[in-house]
Amino acid sequence: MRTMAKGVAGTLGLLLALSGGIAMDRAETGAGIPERARTACVAELVARYGEAERPRIERGVAQLAALWRPADGDEEAFAAFCREQFLADEKDLGATFARLEAALEKVWGHLHEIDRELRTPVDLDTGPILEVDRRLVRIDLWSPLLEDFFRTGVAHLCRLNYPVHTLAERLAEGPGWDRETWARSRMMDLYAERVPPEVGQRITDALAHASEYVDGYWIRADRLLGPDGKPIFPEGKRLISHWGLRDEIKANYALGKDGLERQRLLETVMERIVRQEIPAAVVDNPDLWWDPVANRVYAAPGKDAPADVQAREPDRRYATILDVFHAERAVDPYTPSTPTFLARTFERDIEIPVDQVEALFERVLDSDEVRKTARVIERRLGRHLEPFDLWYAGFRPQARFDERELDRMVRERWPDVAAFQRDLPRILESLGFAPDRARWLAERIVVDPARGAGHAMAAEMRGQKAHLRTHAGPDGFDYKGFNIAMHELGHNIEQVFSLDGIDHWFLRSVPNNACTEAFAFLCQERDLEVLGLGAPDEAARRELVLEKLWSAYEIMGVALVDIRTWRWLYDHPEATPAELREAVLAIARDTWNRHYAPVFGRKDVELLAVYSHMISYPLYLPNYPLGELIAFQLKEKVHGKDFGKEFERIARQGQLTPDLWMKRAVGAGISADPLLRAARQALAAYDGEASR
Ligand SMILES: [Zn+2]
Repeated sequence: MRTMAKGVAGTLGLLLALSGGIAMDRAETGAGIPERARTACVAELVARYGEAERPRIERGVAQLAALWRPADGDEEAFAAFCREQFLADEKDLGATFARLEAALEKVWGHLHEIDRELRTPVDLDTGPILEVDRRLVRIDLWSPLLEDFFRTGVAHLCRLNYPVHTLAERLAEGPGWDRETWARSRMMDLYAERVPPEVGQRITDALAHASEYVDGYWIRADRLLGPDGKPIFPEGKRLISHWGLRDEIKANYALGKDGLERQRLLETVMERIVRQEIPAAVVDNPDLWWDPVANRVYAAPGKDAPADVQAREPDRRYATILDVFHAERAVDPYTPSTPTFLARTFERDIEIPVDQVEALFERVLDSDEVRKTARVIERRLGRHLEPFDLWYAGFRPQARFDERELDRMVRERWPDVAAFQRDLPRILESLGFAPDRARWLAERIVVDPARGAGHAMAAEMRGQKAHLRTHAGPDGFDYKGFNIAMHELGHNIEQVFSLDGIDHWFLRSVPNNACTEAFAFLCQERDLEVLGLGAPDEAARRELVLEKLWSAYEIMGVALVDIRTWRWLYDHPEATPAELREAVLAIARDTWNRHYAPVFGRKDVELLAVYSHMISYPLYLPNYPLGELIAFQLKEKVHGKDFGKEFERIARQGQLTPDLWMKRAVGAGISADPLLRAARQALAAYDGEASR
């Protein structure tokens, strides 16, 4: 987890999510300047500056017109702006860019500091949260600033003079750009869109509503009735959909036959949810008993309940997704270079074309390595796979250590957050950073006691510190807390290198969330080495590789269902909730039949539609497996090399495209090969074991 998604573009995305919805009509989005007037402006500027400037002039005038609103002035005002503000001299372009870069670093940095301060009582373990604290965190410092860029003409000036690049242009031309050209290109991400506050607000509201729906969707496992009409879960067991249901399936592998009965029942619960056959009255209701297989509700085991509580949930799941879709669609006219939510996600945020992401996932989904891993799992389970084995949790990378012993070691070493802070230089050295680099990094990272599990908060200007938020109980950390802290520390190290170690502020950070997650995974995986327990042995490494492959296999399918759902939504904007339900189920079955049925030996399973992310974090899922693939590539690259030096070199590249970033990091674009290669090696060892 990481707070700021990514530099400027990510901040914008976040701001969009935070800021203020009623769609304006298309005339408001800029096409208010007729073509005749635009052509006249171009002709005038070309006459003045020469034919050689024509491409820049045509592009600048079109970019300016695209987000010009009636409030900015009439045709004459538009023409006057073009006449007066066009910068023909490269010296002026360089000076204007430098001025903006210096100024915005300070503006961003200080606003971020104010924001962090306002959030402190809510984010950190600082005693009771006051009513005023909940209100303070709702102060939106950014939306007025973004609107001011347009009100003052700063954004207009930039749109007239610097190109707003598409992803396709960056992919084609970016490898030949120098650092300043890249930085100018990133600057323009800031002015690539102009979303009216009320349109942004509609998204905020739709997502808030979706989160509320998701957050309230608890299944009372203790009120589920098994095949013989009796409860099979312990009293008090309450599971949130889908995370809790999934984690309970994972936990039950340890229970043998009893576990299997529960896992099958939870699978049925998931199917009832995605089909919306679940009786609405049983959601988070301790007063009703439910037999998910027969799909009947009882007042008590063996005692019938009234007919009205048998009614199914009336497609609220899908109505909620549709609300988010309509809110996102209202943004489309205001983001001319990325005019759909799919484009905004893949071209602006992830910056990998969606077709390429799908192809990358399919390569893993249809791999021999997955099939062979499935056979390893079947051997261990002693039975054929069932659909819920998507969440098989029997690989044991940490098996050589007892977790209670690890808890004790962690607690002894770091009794409190201050001890962790003091020990940072040594921790960084044991990760592989040279002593002077370890000190340099440690001076730039503040460890704070988090209320939640933890997160990493980047600084936004040089001279500010990154914050590692970690959770320690009254007795200090336990192993789990430490393991998460190592993940967050990985983010922080990347954040410090890619800000304090960067040449252009507009290039700070990493290309996308997956890139920073990769760094976080790399550090998290080395937690036992930091504890002085040495590198994992070969057996532990093999278990880890197969665990990662199996979890990538699971989540890639879920991510494909999310992507295909959004494509369907854009093709069917008038869909009803019931139509969307049938479409999502068909997409889930089709994805299953293509990539899972051959491995599981069963067709038409709909479980891939169960993730709650599809409701409240749409299109976020692809980030997880992309991060894992990138982590594998980085790991292969730094293996046997100076980890600290390589980490620094790679992180200091800043925000290129992920493709270029990876090519310069590891010599190849994003690829599934290193993961599949590692899996092949691991599987070869299992083959040996099996035949012995
Ligand atoms: Zn993370």
